[in-house]
Amino acid sequence: MIEIDLGQCTGCGKCIKVCPVDALEIDDGKAVLTGNCISCGVCVSACLEDAIEPVIQTAEVGDLSQYSGVWVFAEQHEGELKPTGPQLLGKGKELADQLGEELCAVLIGNDIKGLSEELGAYGAEKVYMVEDEIFKNYSTEAYTTALTSLISEYKPNIFLYGATHLGRDLAPSVAGRMGLGLTADCTDLNIEEVEGRKVLLQTRPAFGGNVMADIVCPDSRPQMATVRPHVMSPMEPDKDREFEIIEESIKVKEESVSTEVIEVLEPEGKSEIPVEEADVVVSGGRGVGTCEEDFDLLREVADLLDGTVGCSRPIVEEDVMPKSRQVGQSGKTISPKLYIVCGVSGAIQHKVGIKDSDYIIAVNKDPDAPIFDIADFGIVGDLNEVLPLLIEKLEKAKEN
Ligand SMILES: Cc1cc2nc3c(=O)[nH]c(=O)nc-3n(C[C@H](O)[C@H](O)[C@H](O)COP(=O)(O)OP(=O)(O)OC[C@H]3O[C@@H](n4cnc5c(N)ncnc54)[C@H](O)[C@@H]3O)c2cc1C
Repeated sequence: MIEIDLGQCTGCGKCIKVCPVDALEIDDGKAVLTGNCISCGVCVSACLEDAIEPVIQTAEVGDLSQYSGVWVFAEQHEGELKPTGPQLLGKGKELADQLGEELCAVLIGNDIKGLSEELGAYGAEKVYMVEDEIFKNYSTEAYTTALTSLISEYKPNIFLYGATHLGRDLAPSVAGRMGLGLTADCTDLNIEEVEGRKVLLQTRPAFGGNVMADIVCPDSRPQMATVRPHVMSPMEPDKDREFEIIEESIKVKEESVSTEVIEVLEPEGKSEIPVEEADVVVSGGRGVGTCEEDFDLLREVADLLDGTVGCSRPIVEEDVMPKSRQVGQSGKTISPKLYIVCGVSGAIQHKVGIKDSDYIIAVNKDPDAPIFDIADFGIVGDLNEVLPLLIEKLEKAKEN
């Protein structure tokens, strides 16, 4: 909720210019709210007189019963669904069943109608769809306004986002505008009864990954969490599942969006694909070396397999690769079709990030390296001898 201190208001009209939904007007020299307000809070930061205050409401126990449904933000890019939506629907279904509530997906973009069918096949009972030119490219302001508007109208109980670059930006923005709690980077979600109420138990690593913390959000709704990609699995898609599409028209004024997308740069080569999105990941550890050039052999293998390169934590600590390439407990959780792992010992913190890979091939010169415990195929040997042989074979296979 928003409150205007009429004593402070000078009627300058700055709030009217930034309001994305035309919810303010000047009456008798002062700003007043119309019925359109969605409590998005954009006007609060625009007011130079500190005359507009957000009123953060903590829900009463009785109020919480108004909130129902497990909602999933279904991220898309250029009309293609990102994997986190279906993955979150998989977990969302379990939570919704335990609560006896609906499972819904939210889709925002432009020209995205076809995607709702996919979300229905992955288990969404309702797909809330917001389409407009302004949502073609992601912007924090426009997407936050769309979500705060939907949340205010439909009052979901739980709202899940992928812990992707976009989700990590959007979820805190929504939480901040609406005064909600948010648990970032969850690795597990469950329903538990606390003081006679069913609440969302949000599990995430804490203190550098040394403990797993269970977090609840008792007093605000929706209970919101971002969830790491690939830690949840989607249901088998079924095109015959029945679902409903709810088209919402949410108009956001261009002037209320402070950023402009000039150009969208796609990854230049396959090796630029994020590790969590690639079908094939070729990873290296301390055994590969601690210079960038030491990873050339791995890049060659990755290129031949249309894959990308990942690494263990010491490689990031040595500044050889960015943190975004780190696989494991404090890095990315991945589930590629093929994971080729070279010169990595196989510490538990690395293994937890790769356990859902379809096939793991490990190359290590130590026959007792723990990485072999989890590998489907193991090659004991020096990676500098093994990888050139593999490259030769792959090149020959490509020629034929
Ligand atoms: C809280 C916490 C979180 C962590 N998170 C992560 C994480 O997200 N990801 C992660 O990876 N680690 C993580 N770690 C670190 C982890 O415990 C290990 O220290 C790390 O994974 C070891 O990296 P490594 O296998 O590359 O190096 P090492 O353990 O040094 O292993 C190098 C391996 O290379 C082999 N080798 C050497 N030369 C060759 C060669 N020429 N050919 C073939 N094999 C060779 C060796 O036999 C050895 O097995 C975390 C640790 C903590 C405490």
